[in-house]
Amino acid sequence: MIKSKGYAAKDQHSPLEYWEFERRELGPNDVLIDILYSGICHSDIHQVRDEWGGTQYPIVPGHEIVGRIQAVGSEVTKFKQGDLAGVGCMVASCGECDNCKSDQQQFCQQKKTVWTYNSVDVMHDHSCTYGGYSNNIVADANFVLHVPETLDITKVAPLLCAGITTYSPLKRWNVRKGHKVGVLGLGGLGHMAVKIAVAMGAEVTMISHSPRKKADAALLGAQKFLNAREASAITASASYFDFIIDTVSAPHDYNVYLSLLKTQGVYICVGIPAAPMEINGRSIMGGNKILTASSIGGVQETQDMLNFCAAHNILPETELIDIDYVNEAYQRVLDSDVKYRFVIDMASIDKQGK
Ligand code: NAP
Ligand code: ZN
Repeated sequence: MIKSKGYAAKDQHSPLEYWEFERRELGPNDVLIDILYSGICHSDIHQVRDEWGGTQYPIVPGHEIVGRIQAVGSEVTKFKQGDLAGVGCMVASCGECDNCKSDQQQFCQQKKTVWTYNSVDVMHDHSCTYGGYSNNIVADANFVLHVPETLDITKVAPLLCAGITTYSPLKRWNVRKGHKVGVLGLGGLGHMAVKIAVAMGAEVTMISHSPRKKADAALLGAQKFLNAREASAITASASYFDFIIDTVSAPHDYNVYLSLLKTQGVYICVGIPAAPMEINGRSIMGGNKILTASSIGGVQETQDMLNFCAAHNILPETELIDIDYVNEAYQRVLDSDVKYRFVIDMASIDKQGK
């Protein structure tokens, strides 16, 4: 077994704390990565606090991972020792079903998607997976991304979830010049959605509950800003947008924002609040609106996104922290007080547990 050290929560009410554990041995198709940087996604918080149900404790979160290849299995040709590598939300899947074969491994029809953490590794030893708030990780090489060396490695990790989750639907819906895109919620996903939609040529409006973020939205490239708390501004923008991408992590009234779409406009949900969505049928029927959602992205699509970001010089706005700051960082994410993604410098784990 491979020895690891990380930060784990022992139950839904406990803070994350130092924990030593073991990972499975490297198989022929696997790589071992020394983790350098790990992003903090709001999904980590939802799962640590068991807001979606089914969390297995102890949980080591983290699915925005960047590091260097430390070792490769005997069959691996895609990577060599020292390569810069990334891991997102998945580390294995069946590879045989139609969805796996069409780069939609997150929807493996055999239900064998192995998530990076809080998941049973049904493709290997049925152990529980542990994520990126740790010094190393073992993953199927087919699920590991090449990270372009031109990107600042201290900032690149959030692309592995926040980047792909927003790139995927914007690309699928062919967002381009001439489209008006509203991004609801300026957090980790929201700020990536702004940068990517702008790079695709769209006119982007930031729709935020935090008026203090207006100047930042402009710096990120948003041409307009809509204060979601100002009813008159919402009414004045009725039927304006071709697309809205909703990144909000907390329960909110979808019907209000659906009113901002044009006829046949598309509302893309990527935020996953703990409470069920309540939609009035009339909110989508008037104007034949399209209500859809999107879940992360496939492995090849994630590689495409990394290459797109390298080509357009797109990187997240990050605050680099040591691992012992992680519990304060969680509270600041919950308070919408992060610009706009925390990234953990994993070298800081070496100061722990002595
Ligand atoms: P985040 O950084 O915390 O951003 C969420 C934003 O939502 C906040 O910055 C805030 O923006 C807004 N918000 C928060 N509380 C609110 C409230 N009570 N009312 C209205 N707006 C509120 O979170 P994130 O990491 O971007 O993740 C966002 C959501 O996407 C989470 O639910 C996460 O689990 C989910 N997610 C989904 C996928 C997927 O595959 N679909 C992948 C990753 C994450 P303003 O202050 O600007 O309003
Ligand atoms: Zn995530």
